[in-house]
Amino acid sequence: LCLNRFWFDYNGINMSVKLSIYPFFLSGFPCSYRCSYCNSRGSSGVKDEVHAATITTELKNWISKSSDKRDRQVAFYGIEPTILEQCILEALFEAVTPFVSTGQIQGIRLSVRPDRIRLLDRFFNSGIRVIELGIPSMNDHVLSKIQRGHNSISVYDAVRYLRKRRVEIGFQTMIGLPGSDKTEAMETAHRLAALKPDFVRIHPTLVLSDTFLAQEMDKGTYKPITLDHAIDVCADVAGLYGSLGIPVARIGFHIPEDLRDNCLVGGPYHPAFGALVRSEMRYRFMVKAIQKNPGIRSFTVPADQLSDFIGYQRENISKLKKQFNREFRISAIQ
Ligand code: SF4
Repeated sequence: LCLNRFWFDYNGINMSVKLSIYPFFLSGFPCSYRCSYCNSRGSSGVKDEVHAATITTELKNWISKSSDKRDRQVAFYGIEPTILEQCILEALFEAVTPFVSTGQIQGIRLSVRPDRIRLLDRFFNSGIRVIELGIPSMNDHVLSKIQRGHNSISVYDAVRYLRKRRVEIGFQTMIGLPGSDKTEAMETAHRLAALKPDFVRIHPTLVLSDTFLAQEMDKGTYKPITLDHAIDVCADVAGLYGSLGIPVARIGFHIPEDLRDNCLVGGPYHPAFGALVRSEMRYRFMVKAIQKNPGIRSFTVPADQLSDFIGYQRENISKLKKQFNREFRISAIQ
């Protein structure tokens, strides 16, 4: 799972350590893999040369303007980086490592397939700090259905390999893939949680134009999950990670409106998907609390979670009223 340009909202990262990330999006390099949900293989074929000088100029500019003391990282996203010719990859690293050596940037983060991680071997001394492994599922049947080209054993191998290199490890996971259901999503989450990642991202499967998944949807052999079902499964999965102390860095994708119109042909997209899932989690929490203590009529919650407790368009307040047949008040701790 590699992030396409429009899927990455770097301002939306919600990590326990505040980060400032400068993303470079590598486009124009068609991927040789055939993951059924991805349209990166259909890239233009026109190579956008990655100029080291441009990277250097942009980073100098960014550093000179950034006054905050947050951890600064450079990210390369957009395509599977290991498909790049080694000389291009080398140029990318050579452009960034001087900033890492001088402490102006604290590291490089990359999104990589588990079965390709060893191809980065020679770059681990060049400032790589975070590796996000694309792991759509840990179920080999699902991985085969989406033509992922690796199985779950590759994930265990990759994590073992990365642990020795002492980098932070994130997992990019998906729900709603062909062959998957809620049980599979939870089994995948349990297996991934056991590997103790530093953080996870959870993405609902969206159907993009020019993908095998879009063809399957047209033929009727794949039916995207509904928004309600996606929220339900994500709430369970995120709840599991949360209960084990594993940070969920992001839930859902951000897709700008114009690209939504051009590329998105199916699936449970909602611009506030993450907020909907967080609201559902808070709703479940409140229901449990009321069932345990039926006298509850109000909740006082941390100010930064107030909107999640109230719910998108005050939905949680209406749902509580409907379920328990009385009014509830939710306010922030003063
Ligand atoms: S490896 Fe798969 S998900 Fe990543 S860019 Fe290639 S086709 Fe897309």
